[in-house]
Amino acid sequence: MHIVFAASECTPWAKTGGLADVVSALPKTLAKMGHKVQTFLPYYRQVAKAVPNAPVVLQSVTIPFPSYNRFARILDGGVKDGVHIYFVDVPELFDRESFYATPSGDYPDNAERFGTFSRAVIEATKVMGVPDLFHVHDWQAAMIVVMLRSIYYFDPVFRRVPAVLTIHNAGYQGWFPPRTMETLLLPWDMFTLDKLEHYDKVNFLKGGIVYADAITTVSRTYAQEIQTPEFGNGLEDTLRRRSADLFGILNGADYSEWAPAIDPYIAAHYSAKKLDGKRECRRDLLHALRLEDVGDETAVIGVVSRFATQKGFDFIVDILDRLMQEDVVLVMLGNGEEYYERLLTEMAERHPEKMRVRVKFDNVMAHKIEAGSDIFLMPSRYEPGGLNQIYSLKYGTVPVVRATGGLQDTIEELPDGGGNGFKFWGYDSNVLLDAIHRALATFRDEKTWTAMMQRGMAQDFSWDKPAEEYVRVYERVIMNRSS
Ligand code: ADP
Repeated sequence: MHIVFAASECTPWAKTGGLADVVSALPKTLAKMGHKVQTFLPYYRQVAKAVPNAPVVLQSVTIPFPSYNRFARILDGGVKDGVHIYFVDVPELFDRESFYATPSGDYPDNAERFGTFSRAVIEATKVMGVPDLFHVHDWQAAMIVVMLRSIYYFDPVFRRVPAVLTIHNAGYQGWFPPRTMETLLLPWDMFTLDKLEHYDKVNFLKGGIVYADAITTVSRTYAQEIQTPEFGNGLEDTLRRRSADLFGILNGADYSEWAPAIDPYIAAHYSAKKLDGKRECRRDLLHALRLEDVGDETAVIGVVSRFATQKGFDFIVDILDRLMQEDVVLVMLGNGEEYYERLLTEMAERHPEKMRVRVKFDNVMAHKIEAGSDIFLMPSRYEPGGLNQIYSLKYGTVPVVRATGGLQDTIEELPDGGGNGFKFWGYDSNVLLDAIHRALATFRDEKTWTAMMQRGMAQDFSWDKPAEEYVRVYERVIMNRSS
């Protein structure tokens, strides 16, 4: 099968979250299975710095707008792990400080930026080879689906080419003013409530959901949740209407990046059978954070996350002073909402013996926290898939999670420390604190704790099975469209 992936992030070139890891690992696995996979990514400034002289594949792809054209170059990013990566280069749109926003808000031309990206991918494939299927990710690439079924409707080469949309987070939808229809040359008759309109805005993700041949999301539970008002962010009705074509496929982990037996960023390697290295990693982490005096009996609690209310930081803030009375240290790495960046930094200053907050995006530090912590905290209000709890399991770092989305599907708490982690329900910080107390009580029972770590480490969340599930979805939509 020839599959074209289009997304706004892909590890290692451009990453703000789990999307990047999925868009890197899934194609790799598909390529290993024998499929031909090409991935298209915007040529952001950060990508251009990493790959400054990418060879030109197409010199000038014309992207029409109402009263002018834009021109995209397609650059060759090379083949990595069997996957051919291409960059869409439109300097005036992508040669910027960040991917989506500045501290004062989203770039005002995001509709044009990602509309251009989407159309460039479609046009490029007409020259470079029309795939059997497009697999597009999140709102930033969702317009590919909408364009294929509207302005490209009469193009014979795309008639039988299906498109699958994966929703990595239904909270981010790409809302734009109505005139976006004209900017992107989309027909006004699509600006209706059953198509792209949503509360008088053009909603990119909604368009993708309406027109995709199949929709997937990154865990089974989240696929159910987004069909309810609590999690659908206003798209629950649209999603329910597509429920026959909506699939929840749990994210995998790329164990060539995230496994303590081979991780190049951590102080010592270890495995379920040979755990000694984890102590060394813990020492290394505490040393790096100037917490050398912390004893073995103290539990190190780690957090690596976007700082956002979605991730349950309000719960953490709520219990923090009470948590600090326990025999723990809390180590947090993240960035995002300024409110939490400031508040958590202030809180860490109030507890210099027991808490560290690092406000930045730092992949090496993320690996060190996974390896060096005893407990990983992920009390998300909602969590489509969640990767860090899956990484934590492999690193023997026991997760404490809220039972939602992918966290619900991967973490199991059983009596007497018999599961692979600790879990709480409801929107109540007290039950989070209870779950942490249960984790701490088990931590003090070394034998039970070690068994729990080893159970998690032995679990296999590699991409092989999810990739097979994606292939089944691909085959289904290809068959449906050809009949
Ligand atoms: P989301 O995509 O919602 O942010 P996930 O758990 O699916 O959450 O994936 C987050 C990914 O981003 C993980 O690979 C995690 O290690 C990484 N990550 C998040 N914040 C940071 C950070 N500040 N520094 C380094 N890596 C981070």
